Amino acid sequence: MSIKTQIQSLRNELREHNYNYYVLDNPTIDDYEFDMKLKQLQELEAKHPEFYDPNSPTLRVGGQVTKNFETIVHEHRMYSLDNSYSKDDLLDWEKRIKKNIDGPVEFVCELKYDGASMSLTYEKGNLVRAVTRGDGTQGDDVTANVKTIKSVPLQLKGNYPEKFDIRGEIVLPFEGFNKMNEERLEAGEEPYRNPRNTASGSLKLQDSTEVAKRPLECLLYSMKGRNLGFNTQFEGLEHARQMGFKVPKAAKLAKSIDEVIEFVNYWDVHRHDLPYETDGVVIKVNNLQQQEELGYTAKAPRWAMAYKFKAEQVSTRLNEITYQVGRTGAITPVANLEPVELAGTTVKRASLHNADQIEKLDIREGDEVYVEKGGEIIPKIIAVDFSKRPSDSKPTQYITHCPECHTELTRQEGDAKHYCLNYNGCNPQIIGRIQHFISRKAMDIEGLGGETVALLVNEGLISNYSDLYALTKEDVLPLERMAEKSAENLITGIEASKQIPFERVLFALGIRYVGETVAKKLVKHYKNIDAIANASKEDLVSVDEIGERIAESVLEFFSSEINRGFIEKLKSYGLQLEISAEKLANQTDILKGQSIVVSGVFESVSRTELKKLIEDNGGKVSSSISSKTNYLVAGKNMGPSKRNKAELLKISILTESEFLDIIR
Ligand code: AMP
Ligand code: ZN
Repeated sequence: MSIKTQIQSLRNELREHNYNYYVLDNPTIDDYEFDMKLKQLQELEAKHPEFYDPNSPTLRVGGQVTKNFETIVHEHRMYSLDNSYSKDDLLDWEKRIKKNIDGPVEFVCELKYDGASMSLTYEKGNLVRAVTRGDGTQGDDVTANVKTIKSVPLQLKGNYPEKFDIRGEIVLPFEGFNKMNEERLEAGEEPYRNPRNTASGSLKLQDSTEVAKRPLECLLYSMKGRNLGFNTQFEGLEHARQMGFKVPKAAKLAKSIDEVIEFVNYWDVHRHDLPYETDGVVIKVNNLQQQEELGYTAKAPRWAMAYKFKAEQVSTRLNEITYQVGRTGAITPVANLEPVELAGTTVKRASLHNADQIEKLDIREGDEVYVEKGGEIIPKIIAVDFSKRPSDSKPTQYITHCPECHTELTRQEGDAKHYCLNYNGCNPQIIGRIQHFISRKAMDIEGLGGETVALLVNEGLISNYSDLYALTKEDVLPLERMAEKSAENLITGIEASKQIPFERVLFALGIRYVGETVAKKLVKHYKNIDAIANASKEDLVSVDEIGERIAESVLEFFSSEINRGFIEKLKSYGLQLEISAEKLANQTDILKGQSIVVSGVFESVSRTELKKLIEDNGGKVSSSISSKTNYLVAGKNMGPSKRNKAELLKISILTESEFLDIIR
């Protein structure tokens, strides 16, 4: 088999697996096999840049960075939709249609997905462009980002029109959204409010590698173009499905408005079982000829109508506003409600977000309030029923002092929330920080759980994480529900955590914005805790991927004598506060400041090992040759175009052994 055929057949195979997995939700090989094939293709492509294809499955992982999104005028305008809220509205709409159309009219009912609308352009079966809706006439070119969404086919299957646009919605399923938020919380960051804004925000990220990490999906619902080869919307959906698009199965043909209503009623209940948000139903005249006759108003098609589900809403009494203190000291006001049934669950509490929100809605204790479960996962208060406000009601005074430790609260410019800055004397912050310290991704202390931490703090046995290491079995035995065996496990678990590597210890310290990835970067660069503690701001921001915000937070943490005291204690207990000798032995600064491109196949090391060697020795691996490249490490079968470019730019080309000599 020629190399070209080999590459093409791998691409086809991987495309099919992507399709099975992401569009049909029905994978036919396991992840490992898939990764192996992908790796094989990556290697072949690296060796043979002459067979480059912008739509290769290897490009799904992102890599392209967009500084400014180019504005693109839509070939077919992206209209809005008119809204309806009742059966009467729909009957009125039908009447207007019947005035213009003779004979029977059929409808297609689809779910209205709540995400970011998108127009994809395909030519000769290849994705050429992805553009946001923008103002409907023109939007932003976000192709590089959309290519990383696995359910968007880069190349179509079967028969496809020469050129067409297809419209859809990019959504973030709840599951992925919740996972992203868990990770943000762990890094001490504010969680995202709702999946829709997060989905549209993702499309405007500059680094497509970041977009590739987000579990976005693209659901398609309509094609635009000439000679599409079908006569109805319903056939169009089926056609799109056959070309490999993810077209939701919920779409249904309805012969009358009554059947439309049936569809609406069904989904009003069952939408809560869907993996992503929907805010209504879209009803479209099925026949494309009839659609054309009906045409458009200035803003929306006359042949389509959105039916908005009523966000489920109830009114109940707000008994009390309380305030929670988080691990980072952030204050969240909470509405304690008279329990009430809403969308199948009993709601007792709702977040009030911050002081501005309370002021904006003029929410007061004793008010009758409307609670809604909309796009957001936590129910929210959307308004006050002022007609029921008690006559002696007084405006809410936002707290000025921490409800737990009575320290005066501060609110910095740009922050939505108030903070209690008494990090080391405020119980919920102390408990939260120790809970973070022992968590799975941090010190992973077996035999110790969040509840026990709270108990230990409240009993006065510990007041910071370093105290854990002074605990004895005798100390903890008297605790509630602490048996001999569990006490032993707890102490053994704490002891064992002394072996946890430095990067996880650094993450465990709970420095704001220092999540797992940042911790790794800092450890790699500074090698030990003292170097990090003594680094200046300029020095910190010079580290790859460390920005001002992180640098300031690190400085603040280490400027505290108390924190430095904890670190000294942790050191004395024997925790890993520097990179291990073994790791260090393999790390140097030889390649500091050097940008290196690797190409071809290697004999004594794999490509991945080679890249790791470069990074371990302080160099930066970059994927394409530019005037900034310092070296090109050339393996066997390197593509001629890379070599030409390197020669043209007078970049030193090293063989595998020349490179290895440098670092050894
Ligand atoms: P609106 O933004 O309320 O004017 O509604 C129009 C938007 O609904 C479109 O731009 C699409 O992004 C979105 N939408 C979601 N699902 C569908 C669907 N099945 N058919 C048409 N539009 C949809
Ligand atoms: Zn406090």
